[in-house]
Amino acid sequence: MPIGKPSHDLSLKLKLLLIKHGKCSACVDRPKAKYCGRCFNTRLEPGVLEALTVLDLGAKFKENGKRVFQELSEDDYVNPPEGSYFSHVLERKKKLERLYDELQHAPAGSEHEAKAMRELLWAIDA
Ligand SMILES: [Zn+2]
Repeated sequence: MPIGKPSHDLSLKLKLLLIKHGKCSACVDRPKAKYCGRCFNTRLEPGVLEALTVLDLGAKFKENGKRVFQELSEDDYVNPPEGSYFSHVLERKKKLERLYDELQHAPAGSEHEAKAMRELLWAIDA
């Protein structure tokens, strides 16, 4: 996918925001610690890691669904059946991107922006 394509760009910015705000609360204050039982040294909250995985996986389904996954099974990964793992991933991705889009369009420093940020962070904890 060419760099600079809007959806790609949005996803990358969202990931950077998640990484910036999603530091593991158990080890953020001791960066030299060699081991963290909460995040297993990723330095990110487990929910943030899951959200990042969802964004990556969701993009992969869309890009390569037919080509790559069809060899594994007959399931439709681009339009997966409701309730399946793949539909869950795509729904999470859509929700995160929608909340991020809202954050992007809120005026800087406004109450709307603060609210959009809170909602995004809640969605990650969920
Ligand atoms: Zn940690």
